[in-house]
Amino acid sequence: MKVAVIGGGAAGFFSAIHVKENHPNASVTIFEKTKKVLSKVKVSGGGRCNVTNGTESISELHKAYPRGGKKLKKIFQEFGTVDTINWFESRNVPLYVQEDNRVFPESDNSESIVNCLFKEIRKLNISLETGYCISKIKNLDGRLKLYFKEENKIPEVFEKVIIATGGSPKEEGLKWLKNLGHEIEKPVPSLFTFNNPKTPIIKLMGLVAENTQVSIQGTKLKAKGPLLITHWGFSGPAVLKTSSFGARILSDKNYLFNIQINWINETNYEKVTGLMHQLVKTHPKKTLRNLKAFKLPERLWNFIVEKSELTLEKKLHELGNKGIHKLVEVLCNDIYQIKGKTTFKEEFVTCGGISLNSINLNTMESKEIKNLYFAGEIMDIDAITGGYNFQAAWSTGYIAGKLKN
Ligand SMILES: Cc1cc2nc3c(=O)[nH]c(=O)nc-3n(C[C@H](O)[C@H](O)[C@H](O)COP(=O)(O)OP(=O)(O)OC[C@H]3O[C@@H](n4cnc5c(N)ncnc54)[C@H](O)[C@@H]3O)c2cc1C
Repeated sequence: MKVAVIGGGAAGFFSAIHVKENHPNASVTIFEKTKKVLSKVKVSGGGRCNVTNGTESISELHKAYPRGGKKLKKIFQEFGTVDTINWFESRNVPLYVQEDNRVFPESDNSESIVNCLFKEIRKLNISLETGYCISKIKNLDGRLKLYFKEENKIPEVFEKVIIATGGSPKEEGLKWLKNLGHEIEKPVPSLFTFNNPKTPIIKLMGLVAENTQVSIQGTKLKAKGPLLITHWGFSGPAVLKTSSFGARILSDKNYLFNIQINWINETNYEKVTGLMHQLVKTHPKKTLRNLKAFKLPERLWNFIVEKSELTLEKKLHELGNKGIHKLVEVLCNDIYQIKGKTTFKEEFVTCGGISLNSINLNTMESKEIKNLYFAGEIMDIDAITGGYNFQAAWSTGYIAGKLKN
């Protein structure tokens, strides 16, 4: 049996390896359009490769995927995060789980993952052809003819083909698959940071507020977690998570929207107001400067006081209801205009791609074309940061590699 895997990324390598393990007599070739393979694995996680996430519970895991979601449950049952960890560790790549549940190789170097995948394809005698871009597939009654962009490469016929070409930032890049009858979900970027380089808060660049809630005004989008102030706007887990869940909505808004920051992740205004009154009662002579409330970094607290049109030397008993109200408003509902986005250097993915309606998720086979399979980010599956995107590549690659009809 002749099998082609299109794409030399994480999903391509992992599916090719599993094809060969499940079908040892198959002749397997990976075609990669560039001269380099596994390039995203190499740069991932800032060169450390956040290979998966430590979340074992499948009912928790699927919640990290705004696209895919519940449909991924069965896929993770077959090959989940624990399987990924076991797979690499049994091949002499020890991993460790960080405090935030992200999983990295003990070497803290993505080369460990790259080398492991290379070693496997060599051991299994999988061919690798780089510099070949597949431009068209023709269905010949169940067998599949691949056409190459490169004029010197003559078309080749395969019994089975796995497409693992990754996220396509433009819909145009998916035309060759749309032409085969597949439904396409319009691709838009996911995992980005929010821009407003002109807002005065930028002077706090580098500062992290650990326990915030970020919402997008006029939508139901919100996320909790640390927020980082950068020299161009806002980043950090709460922002990235909002960008992931809101990828499509924010694209429709052309990345012009307002965010509401709750600096203390407490939406019960009455409770916060009550707390402030309590503080006034117990420390009436304390100045706002000396009030160590809500565990906020000092520079941020000072900024919030200023934004509430209060002075740091004001004593608590001088605040009055009006002062308390202003302070609570900025603490719990601080609004910023966002004008544009910036790619998050550590990790970005594409929302959209081949619609899951066009794929049998038990086998990853196309519902349109027999013997054609999908794996990885080419599909309408993506997640927040934390190793979940690679996990989707490993899991779908594992299933596609069975080549079941
Ligand atoms: C900077 C960065 C850092 C990241 N860090 C992390 C991380 O730490 N943890 C995590 O979970 N996720 C991370 N991600 C996301 C993760 O890298 C991707 O989700 C994952 O690599 C997808 O794997 P894939 O094999 O589906 O696609 P890709 O890795 O994109 O591979 C697809 C391959 O197919 C090739 N190709 C495309 N079209 C054709 C064609 N027509 N013919 C032949 N070849 C073709 C491409 O050149 C490419 O090499 C990161 C992403 C980026 C950009």
